[in-house]
Amino acid sequence: METKKNAEKLANFYLDIMEQENEFEALEWKIDLDSEQVIRWYQGEAALSLAAPDIPEEIVFNRFINVARACQKWQVGPLPVTNEFINNLERLNDSKRKEFINALFKVAGNKAWIKGLNVSPEFLDFIAQITFKPILNAYGEAVLDKVELDKWSHSHCPVCGDQPIMAKFSGKEGYRILHCGRCETEWRYKRLGCPYCKEENASQATFITMEDFKQYRVYLCERCKSYLKTVDERLAGEVDLFCEDLATVELDRLAQAEGYQRGHRRQQT
Ligand SMILES: [Zn+2]
Ligand SMILES: [Zn+2]
Repeated sequence: METKKNAEKLANFYLDIMEQENEFEALEWKIDLDSEQVIRWYQGEAALSLAAPDIPEEIVFNRFINVARACQKWQVGPLPVTNEFINNLERLNDSKRKEFINALFKVAGNKAWIKGLNVSPEFLDFIAQITFKPILNAYGEAVLDKVELDKWSHSHCPVCGDQPIMAKFSGKEGYRILHCGRCETEWRYKRLGCPYCKEENASQATFITMEDFKQYRVYLCERCKSYLKTVDERLAGEVDLFCEDLATVELDRLAQAEGYQRGHRRQQT
């Protein structure tokens, strides 16, 4: 789907951001959920809102800037990154930097900063998503040690509470697995229905496919006008949905041209 030049850019971008992840490897997460918190989790409250970890703001802030630079260098992400944006970030004093990182660490915590930094929510989310991923990923592993993931039947992420960004059909039976773009947690969800507005009526759901890329489907919800990109692993083999997401921007264009929005951004615009 992507051109060769694009694939090269993406590959270089991954290398850049993965190199920067080493700093986080030394961080260890201890998470304690008491029995009441575990009950609330089973009822649908994400772990991050029950027991958030302390994050090393300075290291995370530096990573945020490095990720923004990598996006600029390899032209990856929703918008070209401007020098102005990076300069504005660098001008923040220590306490503002901490405030910024702690705000973005929360789901939908970007609101005050979109205006302040004069950027789009898509763009800020994209960089934040990549910045926090190694932290939330490790945190998620610690959380999933304490609870039984297969008991989670909600449409939002059991670890960080965000909406799923993509889905896949997995295993011989083609179970639908939702994927969180912030922490990479994946969980099973019912096969039919829109995870964003919970519309259950199957006749409300249609999808787009492309002749040469039958492993991809874009599910459209007529009720909330959101779409969900889905990969069929029975046709594609095992996939990494973070990479698949970046490699299938063509599908985003198709769905958006038809008037649909990415489901997890629906409430923010
Ligand atoms: Zn998550
Ligand atoms: Zn919907």
